[in-house]
Amino acid sequence: MDELLRTSIKFLAGVGPKRAEMLKKEIDVESFDDLLNYYPYRYVDRSKFYRTNELLPDMPYVQLKGYIRHYYEEGNGRQKRLKAIFSDEYGSIELIWFAGYRYIQQMFPEGRQYIVFGKPSYYLNSFNMPHPEIDTEETASMVSGGLVPMYHTTETMKRSGITSRKIQELVYKLLKSTRGKIEETLPEYIIKHYGLPALPDAIRMIHYPQNPEELRLAKYRLKFEELFYLELKLELSKEGRKTRFLGEKFAVVGDYFNSFYLNHLPFDLTNAQKRVVKEIRTDCGSGCQMNRLVQGDVGSGKTMVALLAMLLALDNGCQACMMAPTEILARQHHEGLSELLKPMGIEVGLLIGSTTKKQREKLLPKLASGELKIIVGTHALIEPNIIFHRLGMAVIDEQHRFGVEQRAKLWIKNPNKLPHVLIMSATPIPRTLAMTLYGDLDISIIDELPPGRKPVYTEHRFDDNMHPIFMFLHREIKKGRQVYVVFPMIEETEKADIKSLEEGYDLYASNFGQEKVTLVHGKMNAREKKRVMDTFVSGEKKILLATTVIEVGVNVPNASVMIIENADRFGLSQLHQLRGRVGRGAEQSYCILLTSSKVGNEARKRIEVMCSTNDGFIVAEEDMKQRGFGEIEGTRQSGKELMLKIANPASDGQLVAITKREAASIVAMDPSLTLEHNVVLKERLLWLDRNGQEAYSNIS
Ligand code: ADP
Ligand code: MG
Repeated sequence: MDELLRTSIKFLAGVGPKRAEMLKKEIDVESFDDLLNYYPYRYVDRSKFYRTNELLPDMPYVQLKGYIRHYYEEGNGRQKRLKAIFSDEYGSIELIWFAGYRYIQQMFPEGRQYIVFGKPSYYLNSFNMPHPEIDTEETASMVSGGLVPMYHTTETMKRSGITSRKIQELVYKLLKSTRGKIEETLPEYIIKHYGLPALPDAIRMIHYPQNPEELRLAKYRLKFEELFYLELKLELSKEGRKTRFLGEKFAVVGDYFNSFYLNHLPFDLTNAQKRVVKEIRTDCGSGCQMNRLVQGDVGSGKTMVALLAMLLALDNGCQACMMAPTEILARQHHEGLSELLKPMGIEVGLLIGSTTKKQREKLLPKLASGELKIIVGTHALIEPNIIFHRLGMAVIDEQHRFGVEQRAKLWIKNPNKLPHVLIMSATPIPRTLAMTLYGDLDISIIDELPPGRKPVYTEHRFDDNMHPIFMFLHREIKKGRQVYVVFPMIEETEKADIKSLEEGYDLYASNFGQEKVTLVHGKMNAREKKRVMDTFVSGEKKILLATTVIEVGVNVPNASVMIIENADRFGLSQLHQLRGRVGRGAEQSYCILLTSSKVGNEARKRIEVMCSTNDGFIVAEEDMKQRGFGEIEGTRQSGKELMLKIANPASDGQLVAITKREAASIVAMDPSLTLEHNVVLKERLLWLDRNGQEAYSNIS
């Protein structure tokens, strides 16, 4: 069967070499197998025939049975069109074409009975149907009587005659000629246990379902299969890593950890923080390398969890590092950690792009000798010339896409065993989606905010009436609070955006006084940014105007108001991240989403979500609903990378969980897939590999 399904599509009657090339380019369909797996994007119900006198304005696609009475042409030049009177026993409508007149009249001679299918349109008190699909009784057998598939096509495809209808025909032919030759790809025990239809049936039913139930079954089976093989690959590679990659074994919890925990912890940990610390301890004590992702909403206290993990490394004779995505954030972590660890006499190093040569000359030898135990920095940390004595714990802050390759650069920082890797992310995505996207990571979730946090009060306001907002800001500033004002910036170089930031500065400065207002954007160099941020952190400046450079991680608990200008230009997850900058102190905080009075529908919906909830996971789910999987911040393209054609880890969460469990139990019992009933799994994996679906190596 292998060979048959891998036959080039050019050998299918009606395709040929030219169209084959075009199909490859347009929709990546190359072989018989590809075409069978080119699934419809929707179905139209053609089990019902309408009468011409039943039509209503605004109807979707309908089919009618009747006679083409006669053709006539109207207009000249560009206005020219072909019309036909089409009638059944109950009345008549007009069919209209703007091209292909000759062909149509030749193919469908007057006076005969046809089935026409299209979207009726209502004009000057009568109905017409532009460019209908036309069938004779014979050709209709393929389309009428059930759900008819519609396939995505591109303009190029249509130009060379490959319409959705043409694909229907090709698939129909292919299904006929491959009947009995498609082999099962899942083991029988799985098919039985989950009540799945056999593969050949599922493929037939996904293209030509007789009824909605068949369609449901087919979808279930095909989604199951996609997710199952994805999970199987992830489980196999995880299993491989476990046995191959020995990590530092943190056998003891010692003085560093205990003395900090007992004497210097500034607050009680939340239960969620405790749970995650425990998960980390278990991982690190196992002797295998930890690769763990900690997901927690903004402000959930990930930093403290990271610090405790780092102290655990110190207790076991290792060093630890924390890597942040920006210099601002690295500096802030450096300051925060230094302060917390000062009472214990632990020095914290800082290494960022702007660290001078002289500073490096002091820092690097101490790192190499092991005298310096903790260092914070940016990507500068993974440069090859940065040598650690024995790195045991690497914390990666706010970079959930920190991939396998990048992680590997950390591995050589320990001469003997692999360092543990702890990745922190404030991009909350539903667990099932995370499991699939970051399948090679274990996941911890901090699903609890520190006590006393008041939810940020969020409101939508129009920017043509700033007076009440300014009054409000005056009151807040008088109370000692500080304010962020964020401007969208598509690209930091975009002149119009910089201009609106500068105009904003003028407006705020004239209302609040220059001495209270400052401004930071991505075009400034690191030193300037730091200078500006310092004046805000210290409380000297009351209002910080910024582009999204402040998006991740910045922590100024005294700031209680977040104003987002042109909020309609931000995505949901970005809005949520920005809002997370406030609400970090004990005070009531506010987030004001500004837009002009003309807001598009989509943007309005996003703003409504923001005003209705503070929960990052709900925001993420709404985001996914509105934009669909694959458009979510940080997961863009993942669908494609994962080679998923039909399953959607976001909305098929339950199936992800089921298939993951099944895959894990198979790998636990038969890690090399050599048991007789698992042979089909191994064969299928090989087949997928040979056909370029190396899903695993692409994600992470
Ligand atoms: P994020 O998860 O966004 O990185 P941070 O680690 O920056 O959050 O923590 C946000 C704020 O909450 C910090 O000021 C931190 O000191 C404080 N915090 C963290 N954990 C607790 C806790 N258990 N109780 C009280 N405050 C906490
Ligand atoms: Mg953080």
